[in-house]
Amino acid sequence: MTNPPAGPRCSFCGKPAPEVDQLVAGPGVQICNECVGLAVSVIDAHRDKPAPAPMPLWTSMADEEMLHHIPRVAAVADQVEADLRAWVAELRSRGVTWARIGGALGVSRQSAWERFSGEE
Ligand SMILES: [Zn+2]
Repeated sequence: MTNPPAGPRCSFCGKPAPEVDQLVAGPGVQICNECVGLAVSVIDAHRDKPAPAPMPLWTSMADEEMLHHIPRVAAVADQVEADLRAWVAELRSRGVTWARIGGALGVSRQSAWERFSGEE
């Protein structure tokens, strides 16, 4: 595992909140103003052109590029997991049962408790 995320950071470029002007939050992820700008320029460059067939990002990557990239994927996974745990903790602090949390996640009460309670 990578180090736990220390505060919100862009899920695309990895920059922490203090290094960007704005972060926009989604479910477990954030995107910074710089990455939104890059995404808009990519969309504009491909506007009115046939959409390329969706392919995995690694299709054009060398092994070393992939090895450089996977820690970023792991960091985003850690960020999403931390956000999910924060949501579950908030639900528990509101008195929501493990059965309801498990039901929302499509798992049993027991599975939800084992994953999020911190108890053994
Ligand atoms: Zn970014």
